[in-house]
Amino acid sequence: MQFEVTILGCSGAIPAYDRHPTSHFLNYNGHGFLIDCGEGTQMQMAKHNIRRAKLDHVFISHLHGDHFFGLMGLISSFNLNYREAPLHIYGNEGIEEIVRAHFKHAQTVLRYPIEFHVVHPDKAAIIFENSFLTVESIPLAHRIPTTGFLFREKEGLRKILPEKIQQYQIPVGEIAKIKGGEDFIDGNGNRILNTELTLPPSKPKSYAFCSDTCYHEPILDQIKDVTVLYHEATFATEHAFRAKETFHSTTIEAATIAQKANVGTLIIGHYSARYDNLEILKEECQTVFPNTLLAIEGTVYPI
Ligand SMILES: [Zn+2]
Ligand SMILES: [Zn+2]
Repeated sequence: MQFEVTILGCSGAIPAYDRHPTSHFLNYNGHGFLIDCGEGTQMQMAKHNIRRAKLDHVFISHLHGDHFFGLMGLISSFNLNYREAPLHIYGNEGIEEIVRAHFKHAQTVLRYPIEFHVVHPDKAAIIFENSFLTVESIPLAHRIPTTGFLFREKEGLRKILPEKIQQYQIPVGEIAKIKGGEDFIDGNGNRILNTELTLPPSKPKSYAFCSDTCYHEPILDQIKDVTVLYHEATFATEHAFRAKETFHSTTIEAATIAQKANVGTLIIGHYSARYDNLEILKEECQTVFPNTLLAIEGTVYPI
């Protein structure tokens, strides 16, 4: 089972030190989800061996350019590659207008449909669901309407114990039902309880993406106990005044959110261009939340 995120861009608004604007690629068992699409995202995908063709769902957190300037390039490349499958784009009001205006003035009719899903910036809601995942919007607090995204794995099937299959001579045709929670009736009509035959499924995992945002405690309930939290930490404590002015977070603020929400791992990113060496950002976070990692481009983080 694969549930992992690849960081494609970890920079704040101005790219610096070979860091690119925000983009994350989430892989769930071969199904791809792109979160934000900053300038250069498709080049970063190529560099880090992520196949464009695998992608059907793009989530855009907000309409500051460092989170979507790569979208036109990606949409155009799909078109030049004869894509036919629909592309789903989730984002705040305005993204559809921007994309449609661009292609109108480029006099380009796309070969494939784009389906836009408008996200309500003030209300948490399930905005995507399939048989194995749900995606919830997370209302954040930034200068313009901004939404984080929470990917939650659904509860899996129970695990059948191989020795019980042998002991009770369970036919292959019954196994799926037992994994689904049913009891087994043997050839003599005896009922064998499901709890004797199986173990509970693994705890579902989750990934929360929170960028851009100032320190915002209302998200705590929603992201409580997530496996991995990505939270922006644009500034070190020394520049807390800039964080306030620009509606971004400091290291200590990101770490405090992680600690209060009792998450498993914190990944920080969206680094200001003023930091060449990022260690200071990590070290500050670790004073509050020890299990903090830096988002580094090209690195794959298991969820
Ligand atoms: Zn940004
Ligand atoms: Zn922003």
